Amino acid sequence: MNLDELYQEIILDHAKRPRHFGPLTDATVSVHADNPMCGDEVDVHLKLNGEGKVEALNFTGNACSICTASASIMTGKLLHKSAEECRTMSHQFQQMLKSEEAVTVPKEFGDLKALSGVRKFPQRVKCATLAWHAVEDALKEAGA
Ligand code: ZN
Repeated sequence: MNLDELYQEIILDHAKRPRHFGPLTDATVSVHADNPMCGDEVDVHLKLNGEGKVEALNFTGNACSICTASASIMTGKLLHKSAEECRTMSHQFQQMLKSEEAVTVPKEFGDLKALSGVRKFPQRVKCATLAWHAVEDALKEAGA
C-alpha cells in the first residue's frame, strides 16, 4: 500500500465511522457552520472544563467525506487541549492545506496528515477546514 492509498483509507474510515459524532447535552457552546459550495453542514459542540481546556468535543451534521473525516480526526486531536493549543493546531492544519508545497507538520498530527492531499484540490479545502473554523468560533464564543 502506498502513502496515497493509506491516506485514502484513513479518510474513508473516518467518513464512514466518524468519531465523537453526536450531540453533547452539556456543551458549553455549539456552533453551526456550512459550506454552500459543497453542501456541507456541521455543528460543533464544545465543552470546556474549569481550566479552559477541551473536556469534550463532538460534531453533528451532514457533510461530504472530506469534511466528515476532518471533523472526526479533529475532535480526537483537540481533546484536552487549551484554547491556545487548539488555535495553533488549527492554523498549522490550514497552513498544510493552503501552501503550494508540502509543509512539515508536527508529529502529533498523525491521521490529520491524511488530509494533506486536499491542498491539490483548492475547491475542497473549505470542506476540510469547515469544522476547524467552527471550533475557533466556538472558543471565541466561550470566551476562551
Ligand atoms: Zn464538502
